[in-house]
Amino acid sequence: MSRQHIVVAECRDGELRRVTLEAIAAARACMADGDRLAAVLPLDGGADAGAAEALAQRGVDEVIVVDHPVLGRYAPETHVAALLAAATALAPETRWWLGHTAIGRDLAPRLAARLGAGQVSDAIGAARGGDGRIVFTRALHAGKALEQRAFLMDAPAVVTVRPNNFAPAEAIAGAAAPIRSVPFDPPISRVVVRDVVQRVSGTVDLAEARVIIAGGRGVKSAAGFGPLAELAALLGGAVGASRGACDAGYCDYALQIGQTGKTVTPDLYIACGISGAVQHLAGMSRSRVIVAINKDPDAPIFGIADYGIVGDLFEVVPALIAELSGE
Ligand code: FAD
Repeated sequence: MSRQHIVVAECRDGELRRVTLEAIAAARACMADGDRLAAVLPLDGGADAGAAEALAQRGVDEVIVVDHPVLGRYAPETHVAALLAAATALAPETRWWLGHTAIGRDLAPRLAARLGAGQVSDAIGAARGGDGRIVFTRALHAGKALEQRAFLMDAPAVVTVRPNNFAPAEAIAGAAAPIRSVPFDPPISRVVVRDVVQRVSGTVDLAEARVIIAGGRGVKSAAGFGPLAELAALLGGAVGASRGACDAGYCDYALQIGQTGKTVTPDLYIACGISGAVQHLAGMSRSRVIVAINKDPDAPIFGIADYGIVGDLFEVVPALIAELSGE
């Protein structure tokens, strides 16, 4: 039996978000022979049209574009209606895949309720079981326990995948899946988004950064984050923070990493003056290489660090900057 999988694409500044490519990879890992994969792209009057071509190269069978000016700003009712419009062009018994982003988290339960489908939130793993099921893995209790949920292959489901937990689908040379538009007559929305005020936290998106320089209470002041930002810029990365640093007012909560902040899995995570509380580890322990700089040799962060530097961050970080910038 052929099943339909649909990835809901998200763009930022006209570019596909990395988590969309990760959701494609997660969907593909769960597909059986004969299953089909579509990507749905809600567009704002064609503003992100290049994203449709980019999607068409990522190993999907088709790209469905829902294009309407009301989709320029996210509003739950109109976006759910746009996805349902796309679904009418596809087989009804469907698995939907979204990024576990602010928008994905909001859309998924609404979509599941409208479709009468089951829902899995924040999956960090997804694989085909040998018994006709798809098995999803989720992290519980700040990452101290893992839960597995099995869905029948044929059961409709809406899944959100946690960013940075699946290798993103690469562009396939010569691939060009068909792109088609579906008509969309938006409902009268009870919600009107008049303005979107975005916090600017740096040039690199923290959730998708490959290098993160994170500071904790040991950084001691907002000015103390200056050298961390300099190091991040040298490495093409982003600055993050512990809750201790955010609570102390050294930086904005948008930078907080951990159980109640962002979850990140960069290639390189440098923790400066962060003790390594379990709630912080919940957001960064799956980073590929962890470097800890702390003057306390007994700090718990050293327990998960690949490289530990016992020292004063106000000496170590400038030394790293000098080394990297060839001064
Ligand atoms: P501290 O624990 O105070 O550590 C500071 C470290 O800096 C120390 O290890 C010290 O040795 C070192 N240091 C000091 N000076 C220097 C120097 N000059 N050079 C080098 N090292 C130095 N925390 C999070 O981070 N993220 C979360 O999402 C989060 N969610 C939470 C949710 C709940 C429900 C609760 C209860 C707590 C949560 N916390 C979270 C808070 C968490 O428990 C810790 O309090 C917090 O992570 C501590 O931040 P810190 O490591 O920066 O500060």
